[in-house]
Amino acid sequence: MIICIRCTQPRQPQELCKGRRHCQACQARAARISYYRHRWRQLDKNARRRAAEYGCDVQPVDYGAIFAADIAHPCGMCGQHLNPATDEIEFDHIQPLAEGGAHAPHNIRLVHRTCNREASMRRFVLAKVLNRRVA
Ligand SMILES: [Zn+2]
Ligand SMILES: [Zn+2]
Repeated sequence: MIICIRCTQPRQPQELCKGRRHCQACQARAARISYYRHRWRQLDKNARRRAAEYGCDVQPVDYGAIFAADIAHPCGMCGQHLNPATDEIEFDHIQPLAEGGAHAPHNIRLVHRTCNREASMRRFVLAKVLNRRVA
């Protein structure tokens, strides 16, 4: 039995990363966190650009802090539990940027990726129906 230097859990030798003193679970967690950090930077950049295009209010947004605070809350769309281990989780502007919503922490929530996809599909279909009626 070997103690992982990161999580301090007793591990079998084959559970450790090769040539390292931390376990594979810790390695996977570190990879996920750095992956998210990278993605969050991209998200913030894209949102800022779109917010500027739409003339929205832009405030400093710390996606890491929002994630940490909101992950304990249910999905903002379906109300079901968010499980970072099994669910793909996305940030959602409660009032969309396209509708003048602010790029600010109070206007951002966590939702399931699947819920977000469904919602944008609904908006798309609705927009099509409305356009047809107007035409
Ligand atoms: Zn570990
Ligand atoms: Zn959901």
